[in-house]
Amino acid sequence: MRELIIIGGGPAGLAAAAFAVRKRMDALFISPGLGGRTRRRLLLPWVDDYQVIVGDETIHRFRAQLDYLDFMRVRAHAQHIEPIEDGYRVTVSDRHTYDTRTLIIATGSRGERLNVPGEDELEMKGLCYSAMTYGPLMVDRSVVVVGSELLALRAVAELSRIAREVTLVAEFNGDLDTEAGRVILGAPNVVARRGCRVIAVKGGSYADTVVIECNGVQDTISADSIFVEKQLIPNTALVEGLVELDPCGFIKVDSRNRTNRQGLFAAGDCTDASAFQVLMGLGDGEKAALSAFDYVLGLPVAIAPCED
Ligand SMILES: Cc1cc2nc3c(=O)[nH]c(=O)nc-3n(C[C@H](O)[C@H](O)[C@H](O)COP(=O)(O)OP(=O)(O)OC[C@H]3O[C@@H](n4cnc5c(N)ncnc54)[C@H](O)[C@@H]3O)c2cc1C
Repeated sequence: MRELIIIGGGPAGLAAAAFAVRKRMDALFISPGLGGRTRRRLLLPWVDDYQVIVGDETIHRFRAQLDYLDFMRVRAHAQHIEPIEDGYRVTVSDRHTYDTRTLIIATGSRGERLNVPGEDELEMKGLCYSAMTYGPLMVDRSVVVVGSELLALRAVAELSRIAREVTLVAEFNGDLDTEAGRVILGAPNVVARRGCRVIAVKGGSYADTVVIECNGVQDTISADSIFVEKQLIPNTALVEGLVELDPCGFIKVDSRNRTNRQGLFAAGDCTDASAFQVLMGLGDGEKAALSAFDYVLGLPVAIAPCED
């Protein structure tokens, strides 16, 4: 039986694995690839490489550390987890099983897509899914945000401080009529197109036009960049019924990344801790690994500076 299995190869999983290596834990790392969502990067005609801290570069060293530790890697999808005496059994896509005392779930989340013509071709070419990451690059630009919930509102709020003009395309009223919504949408450089859905994204080398339909009437909006800020969907099917999830399916964790199950920890974008950035994912993974380490050492509660 291993001491630790980490599932997921994004920033959270990589940081957890790097910690486990440093502590000489008998650990196994299960993920089809290394890098997670940081492997995708928004391309914009006015942005040069030297202007940005790229997520992929940030995690490069963590990835490099694992590249040569092949013996602790399983390149597969984890498909099933079952509790066993004193730990967990993980079954992967080729049906192999691995037993462990502790487990860290770091399977991330994914943004809901538009599913319209032009999206596949222009994805990450002016069209992206993370205003939190790329908002700072929109100085004095005109941008479109798509969505009706809190994520979209936050994106509009963030972008309206940076961009020249922000157009929100919202199919539903969602969270728009909340107090915060009224303040955010009341900014002088924000226009809200309610009851409108995106039916296509167009552009040449980069996305520059959104085609919308409002009450059966089509219209187009030109923009320097387009942000899809619909729901985030956590990759947590693996632990459904095993650990407590919030109403949207994110794994509930406490401040030390513990789930409600002994020996089972979670980190990064699959948790309700709202990370959603590489640096936060790295810190979260490291914290989860420290909790797993303490658990393996027989310290039932991770050591805190001041514990009753
Ligand atoms: C398009 C885009 C660009 C971004 N760019 C940046 C950026 O430049 N800078 C920044 O700070 N943030 C960026 N972010 C946010 C950042 O990428 C995420 O917050 C971060 O990657 C989350 O890390 P994570 O480890 O929690 O999950 P993820 O990065 O999503 O990684 C999850 C990993 O788990 C694996 N996995 C899932 N299910 C299973 C399973 N069943 N078995 C095994 N493995 C599994 C996946 O293959 C993946 O490797 C971006 C987000 C998006 C959407």
